Amino acid sequence: MSSSPCFVTQIATKEILLRVTNVCGECYDDLKEGDEIYYDMQNYRYLCKKCQEALCERMNDRCEIIEEEGQALF
Ligand SMILES: [Zn+2]
Repeated sequence: MSSSPCFVTQIATKEILLRVTNVCGECYDDLKEGDEIYYDMQNYRYLCKKCQEALCERMNDRCEIIEEEGQALF
């Protein structure tokens, strides 16, 4: 699957790791220099590849999280 418009793909730099975050905003796994990381524009956080892919599968075209079945839609 190609990249999602909901995320900005970046390579983790020392700068990002020091000044922004060095863990994934979802699973708190360590991010390392040179890793591909994904900026989540809805939640203003960086995610690892695994979490970005998982979130993409739950998002609609407008980058909104599609709630699990059983929740009311309006
Ligand atoms: Zn993660």
